[in-house]
Amino acid sequence: MIRFNDVSASYEEQQTEIDAALAAVVRQGDFVGGRAIGEFEAAFADYTGAAACAGMSSGTAALHLALLAAGVKPDDEVITTPMTFIATSEAISLCGARPIFADVAPDTINLDPVQVQATITEKTRAILFVHLHGNPGGAVEVAEVAKSNGLLFFEDCAQAHGALLTGGRHVGCMGAAAAYSFFPAKNLGAFGDAGAVTSNDAELANRARRLANHGRSEKYLHAMEGTNARMDTLQAAVLKVKLALLETQVKKRNLLAQRYMDGLAGLPLQFQPPPAGCRHAWHLFTVRTNRRDELQKFLTAHEIETGIHYPVPLHLQPAYAGMGLELGSFPAAEQTAQETLSLPMYPQLAMESVDVVVAALRKFFVGE
Ligand SMILES: *Cc1c(COP(=O)(O)O)cnc(C)c1O
Repeated sequence: MIRFNDVSASYEEQQTEIDAALAAVVRQGDFVGGRAIGEFEAAFADYTGAAACAGMSSGTAALHLALLAAGVKPDDEVITTPMTFIATSEAISLCGARPIFADVAPDTINLDPVQVQATITEKTRAILFVHLHGNPGGAVEVAEVAKSNGLLFFEDCAQAHGALLTGGRHVGCMGAAAAYSFFPAKNLGAFGDAGAVTSNDAELANRARRLANHGRSEKYLHAMEGTNARMDTLQAAVLKVKLALLETQVKKRNLLAQRYMDGLAGLPLQFQPPPAGCRHAWHLFTVRTNRRDELQKFLTAHEIETGIHYPVPLHLQPAYAGMGLELGSFPAAEQTAQETLSLPMYPQLAMESVDVVVAALRKFFVGE
């Protein structure tokens, strides 16, 4: 059986350090607001090149509080992609603002700058860009649309830890703030839920951190109402140890993706490589074919696990039925929902396993 992901694999590589970090927190007893949080925040800001990082209880909380800290208000419109996990649009709604979908570009499956521009109204306040699967494709162009229209720009980097723009700059640096998720299956995964806001504006990051801690300025002094969305000390301790391997792991993901692309060349499949000079984070390695469902069944029969990200675009979800958006509203997003299949991808996946997956795909398409 070739697994799709293995969230426990990296524990074996760092077991001694992780066990020691967890034990230190337990001994100190600083489970909430402990020392490891600030240490992880500083290390993650350093890795991404952001001025500041604020630890959060999840990626969803990070998105929500990044938007809130930047001043997104009720009745603002925030443009985002329908081809993402629902947390992206939930974060907009949690601010009382309205998620407004725009279609994706077929080559990147990320927001299409032309569609975004056409969706802007006088109520538009911000654009929330998602680096889907870890691909920064189109981000610079959409950030440019935000800038030229005087809109706030946010990045959902939940799948994009380690993705680079040209010049080696990390994603997440182009607008007001970025949100990361450390859900166990992500490129940097905690032992439970966790997330972070990064920003070049240290004040914004501080506001997000304060919002996550009941708006506290002191223990029982509240500058404003917030919520409880703090990062756990135990998660910070794990993440700080795991962060040391992230760069190596992103490089390994790139080698695995290249092995897939070389092996699958010539088959009737499309890939989403990053733009020239950029680095994909390859959270997911996804192929496109109009025989997707048939292919998935075939791979399952060959004991190869796959996933679909995502089978139903957000505008067609029951949760958004009230928007009145029917099939045909966003043809590119709808087509990717029918055609994309995510193949096994995680840093500990063996090159030989990639070759086995490639051989199965060749057998499916050409009967070799
Ligand atoms: C995982 C994910 C989130 C949400 O992160 P959680 O930590 O699970 O709350 C948001 N956006 C995208 C694109 C994701 O993949």
